[in-house]
Amino acid sequence: MPQTTRRALAASGLAMLAPPRAARAQGATPAFPTRAITLVIPFAAGGPTDIVGRLLAETMAQGLGQPVVVENTTGAGGTLGAQRVATARPDGYTVLLHHIGMGVIPTMYRRLAYDPVNGFDPLGLVTEVPMTLVGRKDIPASSLADLVAFMRAQGDRFNLADAGIGSSSALCGALLARAVGARPTVIPFRGTGPAMQEILGGRVDLLCDQTTQTTEYIRAGSVKVFATPSRQRIATLPDIPTTTEGGLPGFEVTVWHGLYAPRGTPAPVRARLTGALQAALREPKIVQRFAEIGTAPVSQADATPEAHQRFWTADIAKWKPVIEAAGTYAD
Ligand code: ASP
Repeated sequence: MPQTTRRALAASGLAMLAPPRAARAQGATPAFPTRAITLVIPFAAGGPTDIVGRLLAETMAQGLGQPVVVENTTGAGGTLGAQRVATARPDGYTVLLHHIGMGVIPTMYRRLAYDPVNGFDPLGLVTEVPMTLVGRKDIPASSLADLVAFMRAQGDRFNLADAGIGSSSALCGALLARAVGARPTVIPFRGTGPAMQEILGGRVDLLCDQTTQTTEYIRAGSVKVFATPSRQRIATLPDIPTTTEGGLPGFEVTVWHGLYAPRGTPAPVRARLTGALQAALREPKIVQRFAEIGTAPVSQADATPEAHQRFWTADIAKWKPVIEAAGTYAD
């Protein structure tokens, strides 16, 4: 089409009818991504969310053809990392890996600087990870029943590590304390990576954390393990009793993970990110590594925005009455 006609068309406001090249000249989105993507992990390096995140970043980068750079934005139980993404430019270059915290934070925090529900576009679920109750090696307890008795006897001299209110370790710790009827002293960290170092050093009594981090230490015998707050035993750690088997029924928590973009991220960009996530979760290397650390990728059907949104909405509804009944608010 001669240049003159194109200018005439533009002038006459019929630009949208112009051929694609004109469209590109008018700022259409070049093929995403054209540069590195930041994957925000809301907890410290070395912890369970970071372990899953770094595996995902490496593999998604292959599918996207651009580096996926992990950024650990920590603090306030994972809400600072979430805020970083909710307030980022919705262009697909800043995404978030978060977990069950996204199910409890909307109720636990009443005064956040971002919208914990409508601030995000879900891209797909990633994995579900069982938790384990692990203690310092020299703790005077060898079974869940012993641990319960020791917690009751110690009262607030018993200390429990977690990653801050809103984290999965804090949720598990609070459910444990309620089930035991004890009031331990809670010691918050920026993630369960640093918390685990305090358990290994014998400076903190107990931590409830995901097998993605604890498997290695349980297998090495460098921590004591008491139970898993799961409906059934963990396939890769079959000797660990469930909390119900150990005498603490009704105390169950499993950590689901999902990938998020800022609300308003263009649909083609979200589709590209979801596609890369799905491809990554099919990768044999990820499947094998996840299996070694007690988890597995979700199904391809669950690695979709629709399934993720449904699951997330249901999880917020599940924890709301539990949190309100306990009255455990962060602010
Ligand atoms: N996911 C852990 C938690 O919520 C923290 C971490 O990954 O470091 O407790």
